[in-house]
Amino acid sequence: MSKIVFFCIPAHGHTNPTLGVVRELVERGHELWYYSYEPFRNKIETVGARFIPCDDFDAEQKIDPKDAARVGSDLAFSTKLLVDTTLALDETVCRHMEQIKPDCIVADSMAVWGKAAAMKLGIPFVSSTTTFAFNKESAKIMKQSGKELVKMLFSMPKINRDVKRLQAKGYPVKNVLDIISNDNNTHTIVYTSPEFQPCSETFSDKYAFVGPSIRPAESEFEKKRDKLVYISMGTVNNDMLPLYSSCIEAFRDTGWQIVISAGETADIQSLGTLPDNVEIYPRVDQIAVLKKADAFISHCGMNSVSESLYFSVPLVLLPQTKEQEAVAARTEELGAGIRLGSTEPETICSAVEKLLSDESYKKNAKIISAGFHACSGAKGAADKILSLCDN
Ligand code: UDP
Repeated sequence: MSKIVFFCIPAHGHTNPTLGVVRELVERGHELWYYSYEPFRNKIETVGARFIPCDDFDAEQKIDPKDAARVGSDLAFSTKLLVDTTLALDETVCRHMEQIKPDCIVADSMAVWGKAAAMKLGIPFVSSTTTFAFNKESAKIMKQSGKELVKMLFSMPKINRDVKRLQAKGYPVKNVLDIISNDNNTHTIVYTSPEFQPCSETFSDKYAFVGPSIRPAESEFEKKRDKLVYISMGTVNNDMLPLYSSCIEAFRDTGWQIVISAGETADIQSLGTLPDNVEIYPRVDQIAVLKKADAFISHCGMNSVSESLYFSVPLVLLPQTKEQEAVAARTEELGAGIRLGSTEPETICSAVEKLLSDESYKKNAKIISAGFHACSGAKGAADKILSLCDN
């Protein structure tokens, strides 16, 4: 029996794919601990891991709301947050690891405190990557601008100061890339197929492309009309009433069934009386809806796109962040989606009409789906982790 410790950031998109892997490992008789955050306790305990809260240590939860936009976009600021969290957790994690003596640490690629602890304590490490894996080749589709590169160069002195703070506490990191990126020597689980991952052939055999981890539907969704169009902007930045309003206008007279998941914060009452063919909810059982859908208008979160393509549903692509931009670019490149040029009702409606009338989109979505189904899934991810425990 092996002892395995997971670390994750407080995000459903990063947590969900790991749950099937944890369940698989628990079912095989291994002992699991999971460092996460209170809102995720229930999910984690349900699959059989021991939950350990990080809420009190997380630097990101304590930042001034006016700085929220700097997270992820300002490298020096983001590095400081990651280092602050790592150092706040240092004593607790090191003491705990000393007690349980894990055979392996598995950390989300953004939960760098997990990777840092593994490096410091010499524990075998697996990175869990819920987005595309990045290296020089695949990063080309992220299209980093010259302005951002200059910003990064100017922020280097600040970043180096943070790296020194880690070194002072015994973390063997040489530079910021040691903790924020994976190289070809890092054992890495990627929750997509080798076909959907850009440039998958340029990664070493330490990378396991295990395919998306699709949870079962929790309910049966009723399809009431010939065509079902689903719209969701994910769970994070989804307060987008003007977009939902534009979609309602776009589809009012189409005769299609329209289902909008608008998120918990959008004031959906303010949209007034809805046309007969439109339903809008704060949240839906997305898997149940996608099983019946004909098209999905999506913000291109990695999970949403993977779930859609798993069920061979082509997409209208409306990315909001760089990461989503990369997912949209790959979906478009493989011919399974159409990028939206504007959010005018006419543009939205004609994109969906094209998706439904041109059979190539469905055909290409089916090809990607077949690749996903051929992947080793949670079982393959568990095998990868256990192969490190055996060593
Ligand atoms: N989701 C859901 N119901 C909803 C909206 C979203 O179950 O009404 C789930 C969806 O199935 C996916 C996750 O929330 O697993 C969203 O993750 P994604 O990576 O697509 O986007 P994020 O929310 O991280 O931006």
